[in-house]
Amino acid sequence: MDRQDEGSVSGGRAPESATLDALIVGAGFAGLAALYRLRDERGHSVRLIEAADGPGGVWYWNAYPGARCDVESLQYALSFSDELSQEWNWTERFALQGEIRAYIDHVVERFDIAKDMRFGTRVIKAHWDEGSARWRVETDRGDRYEVRYLIMATGPLSTPYIPSWPGQDRFGGEIYHTGRWPHRPVDFTGKRVAVIGTGSSGVQAATEIGKTAANLYVMQRTAHHIVPAANRPMHEGEQEAVKAQYAHLRLSWLMTPAGMSWRTLPSDEVIVTGEESALDVSAEERDAAFERAWNYGGTAFHRAFNDLLTDERASALANDFLERKIASIVDDPETARLLTPRQYYGSKRLILDSGYYAMFNRPEVELIDVKADPIEAFTSRGVRTAKGEYEVDVIVCATGYDALTGSLDRIDIRGRGGASLKEAWSGGPRSYLGVMVRGFPNLFIVSGPQSPSALANVLVANEYQVGWIADLIDYLCSKAVRTIDVDSEAQESWVQRVNQLGEASIYTKGANWYWGANVEGKSPTFLCYIGFGDYVERCEAITAQGYPGFVLDGSSLSAGVEVAGAGT
Ligand code: NAP
Repeated sequence: MDRQDEGSVSGGRAPESATLDALIVGAGFAGLAALYRLRDERGHSVRLIEAADGPGGVWYWNAYPGARCDVESLQYALSFSDELSQEWNWTERFALQGEIRAYIDHVVERFDIAKDMRFGTRVIKAHWDEGSARWRVETDRGDRYEVRYLIMATGPLSTPYIPSWPGQDRFGGEIYHTGRWPHRPVDFTGKRVAVIGTGSSGVQAATEIGKTAANLYVMQRTAHHIVPAANRPMHEGEQEAVKAQYAHLRLSWLMTPAGMSWRTLPSDEVIVTGEESALDVSAEERDAAFERAWNYGGTAFHRAFNDLLTDERASALANDFLERKIASIVDDPETARLLTPRQYYGSKRLILDSGYYAMFNRPEVELIDVKADPIEAFTSRGVRTAKGEYEVDVIVCATGYDALTGSLDRIDIRGRGGASLKEAWSGGPRSYLGVMVRGFPNLFIVSGPQSPSALANVLVANEYQVGWIADLIDYLCSKAVRTIDVDSEAQESWVQRVNQLGEASIYTKGANWYWGANVEGKSPTFLCYIGFGDYVERCEAITAQGYPGFVLDGSSLSAGVEVAGAGT
């Protein structure tokens, strides 16, 4: 494995010791927004610690070929500064990783964020000290911080996962994980390459690598649902129109189930309405609606009908449409059959295609069914399955992440009485709002387990949570409160609600990272809150009611907030 950026201790800075108001862990979008909200807006003393050698979080690490966001650029941008919103221009409907990194670098420079960041530094320990009511934090560079508030912005999909195949050290070629891509050119020209995994990362990487590799083996266990991205350059005047009403649009996205709209502007042409059931229309009308959504591209496909994600029969109709599409693109019937998803539509994250299916018509690209013939080991020459060995020069693992809990588990976090967070969560995470955990006072998690996180437009979700936490800290300061903890009843009812929503949803009908089913040995617990708009409504009500469900300096504020219209 290329270890280049595994949080290297690079450069020669001396360890520092400081007492601060807040420490932020992670320099992705959440961490940058938190630093701005706490330091620039509120004047707190803050440090931001980042394991990578630069800012960006997943957008730093996921530098693999073809990496592109599947949320539209104009909806995937920070909102905390109107000047920033007005001055930045995106070039494409869906931005490439490089453009997103350029945007992040611009943000860091514009707000002079770097001076309070420490790169190439990994937080290894955070212990709560009851006497001082502070967190004592240590890094792998020997830094020591004492802070009132600890903000974990470590990201929901940031700890790469590779199954425990034997022989990984024996392979004589290059191995990469898409989530730890090196920051140097990797040339696939004329090479034999195996891409393992066909989720969002694998599909994007394979499509690009297939353009130059001599042989590409795409190793698929499950065929995921894939629709065209229909990426394009920005239309003339498109950005200006959005910028003219950004504030209003952003408020409207806070009320949506996924923190975004399939139409960036309400005045955009209506392609899908999501108002009808797929079962209530004729076969011709259904196909026409699917076709319109297919051609429009992006996750708007979900909204071709109102029941694709909830009704098994509607889901089967979507599968049927996709099967016919795949057969019309992919020449070889057996490859087309293997590429056809069989599981419930939406039970794995929808993937956006920029030439993936068509790539299989080229003789040098081969789909390998590793469900029928599972990978057994890596060898010195390649990948071995029960039926034989695939000799390759490069192996690309696009095998996903230890989602939501992985990054937190890897830090020695100890709360009241020395209790370990990892142990407290050994049977699955427990939190209140996905933001705080009982017994771990003054510790806030952004896009943590049991919050909407990656089940919503994660940038909008991040920023909402960061703002909410910053307001809560204002409240604590205004009341001279030293510690905030969670009421046990409030936490239990939150856990129950998250689990109930998860169990009733399509997400638990497939083996995926939403409930930890992708990682060997991980406790199967639903990890995200379903319904971003409902979540926002609940959080707003909690603020308005003076933070029920929290315990301030030992005094419990009654739990059980009721939210009008939020549904249960
Ligand atoms: P993923 O969706 O979890 O996909 C992992 C892939 O590895 C799956 O195809 C999985 O097969 C395969 N795999 C795992 N263990 C395997 C084994 N033992 N043998 C064979 N195959 C195995 O991971 P990802 O593609 O990195 O995406 C994770 C999430 O990151 C996405 O859902 C999305 O939220 C985000 N993401 C977004 C973008 C974007 O914005 N465009 C890009 C990349 C990632 P199975 O399906 O059979 O489990």
